Amino acid sequence: MSREDYEVVIGLEVHAELSTRTKIFCSCSTEFGANENTHVCPICTAMPGALPKLNEKVVEYAVKAGLATNCSISQDSKNDRKNYFYPDLPKSYQISQFDKPLCNHGYVEIEDDDGNKKKVRILRIHIEEDAGKLNHDEYSSGSLVDLNRAGVPLIEIVSEPDLRSSGEADRYLKKLKSILQYINVSDCKMEEGSLRADVNVSIHKPGTELGTRHEMKNINSFKAIQRAIEYEIDSQIDDAENGKVIQQETMRWDDLEGRTFPMRSKEDAQDYRYFPDPDLVAIKLSDEYINNIKENLPELPESRKVRYMEEIGLSEKDADALVSSRRFSDIFEEAGKICNDYKSVCNWLTSDISRILNEGEMDPEEIPFKAKELAELVSLINDGTISSKIGKKVLEELFKEPRSPKKIIEEKGWVQISDESEIKEVVMTVLEANPQSIVDFKAGKDRALGFLVGQAMKATKGKANPQMLNKMFLEELKK
Ligand SMILES: [Zn+2]
Repeated sequence: MSREDYEVVIGLEVHAELSTRTKIFCSCSTEFGANENTHVCPICTAMPGALPKLNEKVVEYAVKAGLATNCSISQDSKNDRKNYFYPDLPKSYQISQFDKPLCNHGYVEIEDDDGNKKKVRILRIHIEEDAGKLNHDEYSSGSLVDLNRAGVPLIEIVSEPDLRSSGEADRYLKKLKSILQYINVSDCKMEEGSLRADVNVSIHKPGTELGTRHEMKNINSFKAIQRAIEYEIDSQIDDAENGKVIQQETMRWDDLEGRTFPMRSKEDAQDYRYFPDPDLVAIKLSDEYINNIKENLPELPESRKVRYMEEIGLSEKDADALVSSRRFSDIFEEAGKICNDYKSVCNWLTSDISRILNEGEMDPEEIPFKAKELAELVSLINDGTISSKIGKKVLEELFKEPRSPKKIIEEKGWVQISDESEIKEVVMTVLEANPQSIVDFKAGKDRALGFLVGQAMKATKGKANPQMLNKMFLEELKK
């Protein structure tokens, strides 16, 4: 079998929890991590006679998401009941949107596998309520239901099947996540389930009909999504090559085992018996309402990127790295403004800070220190108080226990030695201990100077001012 013979077709349905303070149809808190069944009321536990009332913020956030992904906003929309039975769904239906979603036909721009720009079309974005959560307690014989999450607002962003590889799917998701963070409608914490995706994968030989798709439900990490897609591509090509007919199925991805398992044959829309929710009125939006949201939309990553390149003179690569996360970009702007050295701040973010984040498998959102602390670090290096080598040690301290870099270098005694007589003393001691290097230098071996400076840095634990060392060694050696 050969992968090159097949075209891979991927579509994503992304669920993002909206960061409204209260739930979509009641005034219960949406806060994550509370004790079980403490954020509940008759509405979100589906007591008979309780009536839902739509949270206006949910509409506003969904419209923001639609505008930021180039969708057209529907002025005439409604809520529908999606009927199915599951223990985490007390009403036995989910209030969602069927044929009149709030947002239609947008797109998000990503890079394809060859580095070219590509538009991934968005079919629709609709609002709906989240279900509760089942806790499968290993010590009890059954499962326990927690309804804190029932009624937490979600948007579902449905893409067209425009993605052609796991890499493209990954870039699309990351782009979507960053847009939602920029417009501040979701915290997108994947580990808390605020962002999760249903992944549809099929394969076919180019020029032939589209293959039957497998849908994998509710995957909530970038890595797992990529692995699940890779696994499905291989397994579907295997089946196709062996003449096995691929069934339309809903699959469950098991990240520990690294494979998918069939859950059930895929339902069609008609299985859900959708109908308009009679307890809720239609959602009618005026031009004025939509325009107002449009005008107050925060600056999006694309526009920040252009500004960084044109106004600050950053390379496209650096600008891309900075805008990839809102937290990164915010720190860059704030710290750059304080120390008035955008290029150094950019260097710290794209090199040492990114490295530490990667090593600790952390998100930029988890950076513990403030922009003004990074700005102070840059200023301390620029005015010669510390060397950039010591700066790296200060940065590690900032990750361990964020505080003022000035305090850190005082506590640790890391202030750079720039006192002439002190430097001179070190230079003389090092020269005395290394007579061969003096001979070597006089014989034209310039490397000897570097060695001597290195010895002096070692003797001062990296605190000596390197420019002064260089200068003074040269003076002594030329005597
Ligand atoms: Zn409630």
